[in-house]
Amino acid sequence: MEESSSTSTQKVVAVVGGGLVGALNACFLAKRGFSVEVFEAREDIRKAQIVKGRSINLALSHRGRQALKHVGMEEKIVSQGIPMHARMIHSLGGKQSPIPYGKKGQYILSVDRANLNKELLSEAEKYSNMKLNFDHKLKDWSAETGLMTFDRSDGSKQQIRADLIVGCDGAFSAIRKQFLRCGRFDYSQTYIPHGYMELTMPPVNGEFAMKPNYLHIWPRNTFMMIALPNLDKTFTCTLFMPFEEFEKITTGDEVIEFFQKQFPDSIPLIGVDALKRDYFRLPGQAMVSVKCCPYHIGDKCVLMGDAAHAVVPFYGQGMNAGFEDCIVFDEIMDQFSEDFSVVLPEYSRVRVPDDHAIADLAMYNYIEVRFIQISTLTMRILINFSTTQTVPFVSLYCFQVTFTRTRYHEAVKRWHWQNKVINCGLLFSVTGGVLGASYVLIKNPPSVNKLITPAEEMWNRLTAVRTP
Ligand code: FAD
Repeated sequence: MEESSSTSTQKVVAVVGGGLVGALNACFLAKRGFSVEVFEAREDIRKAQIVKGRSINLALSHRGRQALKHVGMEEKIVSQGIPMHARMIHSLGGKQSPIPYGKKGQYILSVDRANLNKELLSEAEKYSNMKLNFDHKLKDWSAETGLMTFDRSDGSKQQIRADLIVGCDGAFSAIRKQFLRCGRFDYSQTYIPHGYMELTMPPVNGEFAMKPNYLHIWPRNTFMMIALPNLDKTFTCTLFMPFEEFEKITTGDEVIEFFQKQFPDSIPLIGVDALKRDYFRLPGQAMVSVKCCPYHIGDKCVLMGDAAHAVVPFYGQGMNAGFEDCIVFDEIMDQFSEDFSVVLPEYSRVRVPDDHAIADLAMYNYIEVRFIQISTLTMRILINFSTTQTVPFVSLYCFQVTFTRTRYHEAVKRWHWQNKVINCGLLFSVTGGVLGASYVLIKNPPSVNKLITPAEEMWNRLTAVRTP
């Protein structure tokens, strides 16, 4: 077994996991002048034929962009992304209705996951105090000594000691496993009953098959499909569905029947043959939500990104939150002059409530499918406001999550408050409506036919908020 360690007085920081958050974090840490080593289980994805990973593309928003800006990468990544100014809601009948994301001119970006990861690794490699180690899978490590053991694909092992270990090794973190052995570590994980599957919508005559500057959504209560544009003019469609529904569909004809019923307008765009084939390429993929506390052990180790807080993808914030972790850690490093014994507990103190808040918000959007309901209500209001610079009250917390660095837990507080106000408002409107209608009815008794009309009208109005 080979052991290596730095002989210089420079502090050695080991980043375990060279995914999105690990590669970005390595840049932040190298910029501070530490001797940084990244250990990634996979081969170098810049040289790999096939890049395995989760979603093909991701929505990058303000928090993620701010983190990229810190290491001088914002412009480059933004230039490689596709702006999405609004959600485009596809009704069952094929009607498309846009719901703007923010104020006029604001947008989120569709970025290619593999490309973003490659760019971040290449940026990290530019620092002379950086070493990238691929094909190094963390097997074990010691919180007392900082000694880590890595498995190599040729069967060899390597041991490395570091002053600080930064666990960015994703939702199934090997670093986090050690935390579970320590006392006073809270941990929970929840698999949701839905899985996801990705399908490709090819270009039509060399052009995007649908309007490109939108995040397309087909909300169908228990099912949902979304589509994000790619630079090669394809869309990546992601179908979210309960696992038992995925499993019910066993033949190509059943796939088409299901799409005909739920997403008929997408069939000619994805293509009958492609649908019949690609649906069976991979089974539905699981989605997990992980919460833990604290994020550190002593002055030796800290968790960031999905290793600390995997969230379900219904708010498009997992990577953005992980990127923001890097800024928050950096700010605390400044505040406490890189004294790990103070920085690490402070990081846990500050960041845990925010990461837990975004996990809750993402889960809430999943459970209630409220995302769509609020959005439709939001749409009606936003359409009136989209030509102004004002953010309407109803969407303020969504706006804060997506377009500001307002702490997530504060945005959640606003969301709770807003719900209370909306519910009170609805109650007042309904009560007022009922009283008003009763007065009119008493004054002008209508025919039986006319009697049901106001009630129907009110019902239609309320349900219109729910069904796009
Ligand atoms: P990962 O990306 O999982 O990277 C972890 C890295 O660690 C990997 O490279 C892995 O190989 C390596 N590793 C693992 N174990 C070891 C080990 N033992 N030793 C060494 N290396 C190891 N987020 C958004 O912000 N916007 C979106 O639109 C969005 N969409 C999503 C859609 C889907 C379907 C899913 C599933 C997630 C989505 N996310 C989105 C969330 C986002 O993918 C994650 O939050 C993000 O990838 C987290 O990055 P990470 O670096 O922490 O973890």
